[in-house]
Amino acid sequence: MQEEVYNRIRLNSLTGKYITLDHLQPVLENLKSKFSYKELGKSVAGKPIGVLKAGQGSFRILAWSQMHGNESTTTKAALDYFNWLAHSSDSEVKTLLSKVSLYLIPILNPDGAQNYTRTNQNGVDLNRDALKLSQPESKILREAFQEIQPHYCFNLHDQRTIFSAGDTHRPATISFLAPSVDPGRSISTAREEAMKIIVGIKRQLPSDITQQIGRYDDSFNPNCTGDRFQQQVPTILFEAGHFHVDYHREVTRRYIFLAISSAVYQIATQSFHWENRDWYFDIPQNRKNFVDILLKNAQIGEEIIDVGIQFEEKLYQQNIRFEPKIHKIGPDLPFFGHFQKDCEGQKVTLTEGRLPVENDLVTQIMLNGDNLLSKIE
Ligand SMILES: [Zn+2]
Repeated sequence: MQEEVYNRIRLNSLTGKYITLDHLQPVLENLKSKFSYKELGKSVAGKPIGVLKAGQGSFRILAWSQMHGNESTTTKAALDYFNWLAHSSDSEVKTLLSKVSLYLIPILNPDGAQNYTRTNQNGVDLNRDALKLSQPESKILREAFQEIQPHYCFNLHDQRTIFSAGDTHRPATISFLAPSVDPGRSISTAREEAMKIIVGIKRQLPSDITQQIGRYDDSFNPNCTGDRFQQQVPTILFEAGHFHVDYHREVTRRYIFLAISSAVYQIATQSFHWENRDWYFDIPQNRKNFVDILLKNAQIGEEIIDVGIQFEEKLYQQNIRFEPKIHKIGPDLPFFGHFQKDCEGQKVTLTEGRLPVENDLVTQIMLNGDNLLSKIE
């Protein structure tokens, strides 16, 4: 899809990383008039959890986003996709909707979304609750799975900025996983289909992103939802990641839109059967090669040393603040920085009045009378 076409259907009311049920309400009202919507139950704090459905086709797809409350990029992208389905007069869309029934739970963890936490209101990681089903949100997802009986599942997430696509200096802007079904990582029929769809997505994404696609470690964990569902139907983990200076993930959002669009299309046409599953293993495995800011050869006290700084995301008055915190100080740190600066042995001050240590919040990055932090933010 052309970028200008995407820009026309993109939901501009949803921007940034802080996306809650309140932000979604007007969008859902709009989409409900085109598609069906059903409430499935309530979160721990009593917020409604619902599912949107587009299409009447025989291939049923169940997607859920914001299972981790602070991972909203895929929510924006998936709802952009529904908005495209709702407003496109393209005959291709009509055909698509006659082939698939696409179910989307846009926010599975609305309390975590509100609090901007990974976990739910009880502090439980819902993606480690697939066996116990101890939380209402986990039960809701399981019941939806049983009721809808999907043929395919999309598990939609965000990943941190630390990941690179393989052992490279390229960020993993999107990562995928076809989760394992057992400790031996067997390639069951369902898992093989998930792999083939991922291969197809990678092939169809724009060439400017293909070097920035990573693959997650496939160790089996039965507590993870994807691993459980893969035992029954092809299940794909999508992870939205970092793209250059795009901390609000508005660029990545479009790539996720395209990835979802590709996956749905491949399912509607069943074209993924022609893909070569072995290419899945050619996708480089994610490595943790990045920090947000890397200062090389900085004079701290008497030493010339590297400093790796990570942003911590904090919710502050309905906005997300990116607070820089020292992750590592040491010689020749094995990282790349999304922002990287060679200080060439010059004196750098990061905290006021004392030498910085790991885990300190950085209040400034003073180099030659300049505060670099003000240029980064
Ligand atoms: Zn996640």
